[in-house]
Amino acid sequence: MPDHAVNAASAVDSTPRKFVYDFAEGNKDLKDLLGGKGANLAEMTNLGLPVPPGFTITTEACKVYLDSGDAPAELRDEVSAHLAALESRMGKKLGQADDPLLVSVRSGAKFSMPGMMDTVLNIGLSDDSVHGLAAQSGDERFAWDSYRRLIQMFGKTVLDVDGDLFEEALEEAKRGRGVSTDVELTAPDLKELVERFKGIVERSAGRGFPQDPREQMDLAVRAVFDSWNGERARLYRRQERIPHDLGTAVNVCSMVFGNLGPDSGTGVAFTRDPASGQQGVYGDYLQNAQGEDVVAGIRNTVPLADLEELDAASYRELLGIMETLETHYKDLCDIEFTIERGKLWMLQTRVGKRTAAAAFRIAVQLVDQGLINEAEALQRVRGAQLAQLMFPRFDRDAESETLGRGIAASPGAAVGQAVFDSDTAVERVRAGERVILIRRETNPDDLDGMIAAEGILTSRGGKTSHAAVVARGMGKTCVCGAEELEVDLKRRQLTAPGGLVIREGDVLSIDGTTGAVYRGEVPVVASPVVEYFEGRTDPEADGATDELVQAVHRLMTYADRVRRLRVRANADNAEDADRARRFGAQGIGLCRTEHMFLGDRRGLVERLVLADTDGEREEALKALLPLQKGDFVELFASMDGLPVTVRLLDPPLHEFLPDLTELSVRVALDESRGTVSEQDTRLLAAVQRLHEQNPMLGLRGVRLGLVIPGLFTMQVRAIAEAAAERRAAQGDPRAEIMIPLVGTVQELELVRDEATAVIAEVEAEYGVELALTVGTMIELPRAALTAGQIAECADFFSFGTNDLTQTVWGFSRDDVEASFFTSYLEKGVFGVSPFETIDRDGVGALVRQAAEAGRAVRPDLKLGICGEHGGDPDSVHFFHEAGLDYVSCSPFRVPVARLEAGRAAADPSSSDSR
Ligand code: PEP
Ligand code: MG
Repeated sequence: MPDHAVNAASAVDSTPRKFVYDFAEGNKDLKDLLGGKGANLAEMTNLGLPVPPGFTITTEACKVYLDSGDAPAELRDEVSAHLAALESRMGKKLGQADDPLLVSVRSGAKFSMPGMMDTVLNIGLSDDSVHGLAAQSGDERFAWDSYRRLIQMFGKTVLDVDGDLFEEALEEAKRGRGVSTDVELTAPDLKELVERFKGIVERSAGRGFPQDPREQMDLAVRAVFDSWNGERARLYRRQERIPHDLGTAVNVCSMVFGNLGPDSGTGVAFTRDPASGQQGVYGDYLQNAQGEDVVAGIRNTVPLADLEELDAASYRELLGIMETLETHYKDLCDIEFTIERGKLWMLQTRVGKRTAAAAFRIAVQLVDQGLINEAEALQRVRGAQLAQLMFPRFDRDAESETLGRGIAASPGAAVGQAVFDSDTAVERVRAGERVILIRRETNPDDLDGMIAAEGILTSRGGKTSHAAVVARGMGKTCVCGAEELEVDLKRRQLTAPGGLVIREGDVLSIDGTTGAVYRGEVPVVASPVVEYFEGRTDPEADGATDELVQAVHRLMTYADRVRRLRVRANADNAEDADRARRFGAQGIGLCRTEHMFLGDRRGLVERLVLADTDGEREEALKALLPLQKGDFVELFASMDGLPVTVRLLDPPLHEFLPDLTELSVRVALDESRGTVSEQDTRLLAAVQRLHEQNPMLGLRGVRLGLVIPGLFTMQVRAIAEAAAERRAAQGDPRAEIMIPLVGTVQELELVRDEATAVIAEVEAEYGVELALTVGTMIELPRAALTAGQIAECADFFSFGTNDLTQTVWGFSRDDVEASFFTSYLEKGVFGVSPFETIDRDGVGALVRQAAEAGRAVRPDLKLGICGEHGGDPDSVHFFHEAGLDYVSCSPFRVPVARLEAGRAAADPSSSDSR
């Protein structure tokens, strides 16, 4: 471990802590300490790329500041030492009156949080040094423009001045001069603007704009620390599940200028298209501009390829650097650069965000280019991305009226009502509507609306605009830069080129894959990836051209080859079973038999409950038997040759009976009219008898089987007879009988004895050996804690992590998610609902313990999981590590689970206790 990591990690370490790193001291693997930006600036510096010199203040310093309200005592001196070194290297001092060194102060957390945190450029300018900058650059206009930008950014982000005040003053200055862009403002205009900006600061912040450059820098660093806990940042972290305690690093970097005239500029680029993965020259460039101008959509950018015309030498150097970076990082990189009077500078790089489709394509392209191997390729895609690719898309053959077209920034098909601001989006979604958020361009204040909306449409900005980057990160459909659509926020309407007006509330459809915007609701069709899983397209056929489908096919093939976990589906009818099988399920891990008691069969259940005598009960069960058997015959046929775990009835019986209140009212009314039937009176008595305060913890599962004589026997007989009939039809049924909600081995023994007897009877009747196994769900803490005893009597365990989560936490699932989970998530009690992703420390610990205890008694004990977590990517990794044999999930999640099981097996950091 390197020294600094020890220093940073250990509070009790007596060696002095190091809070500041020169760019030359870091590397790309130090993201925890230096943040993503700092680590990558260091990496580029060490690769010999042109990075302006600077230093990084660590996340550890930020954490001390956030915990104690003060920066660590040593920080000031360390910053001074690094600043002095930077000054001597650059041959000028920060803010020096005749030739100022200027720096940027930029946030940079471990995970990129686009637009969420603050940046201040041009620190070091003051009423004095602005003249020095003008003299040194020979450009008065540039100096005043830089100064007004500093006051504006500093005012807004450090001193909390309303940014609109500056924007309005800028607009006014442009109006006064009769010009439309900021570049047309002259030095005297900008000088006047600086005075106005200073007045705004004075009035709004109650203090003057600081003239001491070091004070500027220190305040900016503090503001970046504070921005970690800003509302925007917290919201983004919750969305992206980034822990709140990481803190941000702060990068102090010597300024280079893109606003020094037409031979200067700033740009962003990707080494491949982040939407499709295709190699090429992708990016935007803006001449004579600085900082965020290029992504803010302030002026129209030009495509990066146009840079060749403007500055061929820089363009060639940039392409060379992009290739170096791609080869070095072995992945798509995105970069920010600036050209200062013909000299190229790299300001940032990182492994770039990409759409789900591009992730799959790029992973196989990199394999084909020999840059990564198959195991690495699997780490480049995620189950969540695959799930996204399985969303439907618009039907190309459907009648649709195109309103216009923008840039396809984040794929998907979104339909909803037009809304023109974030608050309205949130309100309408709360009221149950689907909305498309329409803005000219988005900024971090729109985040709530973006989260709520089905899709986002903007009229300005390119593929790297805020809307595009954030939407891609969220996996949300986005069309941006639809310039032909006129967005009028005041009148809350959008006007298409032909004059057609879409008002707030009107429905429109946006296609993030093509960039098209349609009026009204366009019908959607299945995704090509689903068509592939359905077996309707063959990626290996001659002439198969869909590159995405081919990439998915190859990665699924790798995943299937390496994974150890098997993947089954939760299905209880032949249709779902068939689909699951097409999607690659290797059996059914959970057939919930309760649906077989609904519909027309309710009457039979009522008879069962109302039965006063053994004879009546047996009659009711006898009537249910053939129906159950028929269900199983179908299911075993569609899963022929594969295991089918059939769970005996789990929910409380009253779920199959009429509602207590409704029935009470009916009986009361009938009584008052004197028309009440004997049947209804008996039914009401039964419903009242079976009513429970907390049915989840009441008479359900194995308890029901033990108190309703004959119920489980009937189900076991139906399973055994169905298996026997499939055998007779030359089938290969592999049924497994599963007992729900077992808390103690005694319950299981009783049911198992009964089941064994019935199976033996059926085997004798049909003259076959059925090889049926009997196992149990482990879904109560007591079952997990006594798993060793239970294993003595079980052929398999299937972890019911839904109930196990409910009972380990004492959470009633139906109640807690709606009532207080939002608040728990906001308060950071947990980062994700434990019903969605397995709680490794609590529920997960019990799973591990039970698995070990079970296997200790019975080494061949088959172990599976059939709760919702079986289809959740993170949880699949956990089950792999815990050494289970299979996960079972809903049919549509089967491909996701296959992929994640492959990723877990190929992940070098993942252990596997099997
Ligand atoms: C479980 O509890 O995890 C489970 C699969 O059973 P159910 O959701 O039907 O209670
Ligand atoms: Mg359960």
